[in-house]
Amino acid sequence: MIKIQNFIDGVYKDAVENNWLDNYNPANGTVYSMIADSDDKDVELAYQAANKAYPNWKVSHLEDRFKILNRIAELIDLNNDALAEAESIDQGKPKWLAKNEIKRAAQNFRFFATAAMQFSNESHHNEGFSINYTLRQSIGVVGCISPWNLPLYLFTWKIAPALATGNCVVAKPSEITPMTAFLLGKICNEAGLPTGVLNIVHGLGPKVGNALVSHPKIKAISFTGGTATGKHIASIAAPMFKKLSLELGGKNPNIIFASCDLQKAVKTSVESSFLNQGEICLCGSRILIEKSIYNQFKIAFIEEVKKLKIGNPLNDENRMGAIVSKMHFDKVLSYIELAKQEGGEILLGGESIKGNGDNANGWFIQPTIIENLSHECRTNQEEIFGPVVTLTPFDTEDEAVMISNSTPYGLACSLWTNDLTQAHRVAERLESGIIWINCWLVRDLRTPFGGVKQSGVGREGGWEAMRFFTEAKNVCVKL
Ligand code: NDP
Repeated sequence: MIKIQNFIDGVYKDAVENNWLDNYNPANGTVYSMIADSDDKDVELAYQAANKAYPNWKVSHLEDRFKILNRIAELIDLNNDALAEAESIDQGKPKWLAKNEIKRAAQNFRFFATAAMQFSNESHHNEGFSINYTLRQSIGVVGCISPWNLPLYLFTWKIAPALATGNCVVAKPSEITPMTAFLLGKICNEAGLPTGVLNIVHGLGPKVGNALVSHPKIKAISFTGGTATGKHIASIAAPMFKKLSLELGGKNPNIIFASCDLQKAVKTSVESSFLNQGEICLCGSRILIEKSIYNQFKIAFIEEVKKLKIGNPLNDENRMGAIVSKMHFDKVLSYIELAKQEGGEILLGGESIKGNGDNANGWFIQPTIIENLSHECRTNQEEIFGPVVTLTPFDTEDEAVMISNSTPYGLACSLWTNDLTQAHRVAERLESGIIWINCWLVRDLRTPFGGVKQSGVGREGGWEAMRFFTEAKNVCVKL
């Protein structure tokens, strides 16, 4: 059985205590590999390796840094098929989708490799009085913690800017989906990344994650995951005055105004509801529809969702794969039960599905559409993070904005309208870090990415990420 070992100082190693966790294939419910069950001793080894590598990496020539990070991108691209298959088996997502995500992992490295060459510091000149310039210097050893839904995509989204700005990294992927992070170590060695610059420690959040966050010498934490975990991390890191970036949960509205292009709105809403089994923090799980087109939208949406095929993620015909873990499968099903108790009417789905053949014991759930729920009920307030959407009618723009803003979250929102003024007016009023108008998940890596309220603190992407992973120092000269 494959052993998913830690990657420390450029070498694959078992955890110090030589303990192992089971790693499941969610599409058939079987254990197919073992994960190093690391603890604070492994984090310490990773920290020591990173700290040893830091003095040379931080002064490495920008062009050399660019070449190495860009080479990592090239190697990820060259290994796209193998990495996508590994991701699909580990996470349950369809392989065709994993291929796009692996492409994005390469783009993350390519984007921040070039950013390293372009990043510049500001200067402030007060003529005849003073000149100030800002140095943006690497921080040192930083920690990156990522979730299970878009494993290599989100792991690299953090690591790439951290490395591009001259930091050394101790990173922890989710223990639920560690495989592609494991494979990345080999690629980094092949690309010539100096040993110790990137260290990957596997294991459980409360053990490895906690050790990383509470390590006194790890100066910044970039975390993506659930809001409850984010709160816990903040409670440890804040009194230690660590820099913190928290990308957390969402309960995103998808607002359909009567003036929209209905066909496009329906087609994209199917994706924004069910892509990756709804396990994307940006998925629109609350569809709000202007009353005059409610029935029209509902009928067309149900028809389109009925066409989604679910099953073996390695079969390209299937649009949806398996739910990532048994625990998450049970959680999603429990929310469907809750929705029923809250008076929700299941318009489509609502059940688990038995896969065919080898997938008979996989964790599959039908795409589920629910209506007739108040916007204040738990189903419409709490993050489900699965293939479940609710439909809610609204009368006025004010009501749509009120319902949208009524949850504790504020990550992303889609608006569907052909009224340009309405689009801008509503975008301005929504409490959300990201607004898509007549589209969804269109990403330009230069834009600020992140949420408001309980969806997080700080922004990733472009210069925001480069600034997060550097400390600003003001140097002032009196003229
Ligand atoms: P979790 O918060 O459970 O886990 C995220 C990461 O944190 C995992 O690596 C986990 O390890 C680790 N972790 C868990 N407990 C601790 C701890 N005490 N200290 C340090 N690290 C810890 O989230 P999920 O993996 O379940 O991911 C789903 C969540 O992520 C959803 O809420 C989703 O909305 C959010 N998300 C947000 C995004 C954004 O950009 N805003 C993007 C994608 C997802 P382990 O898995 O081993 O327990």
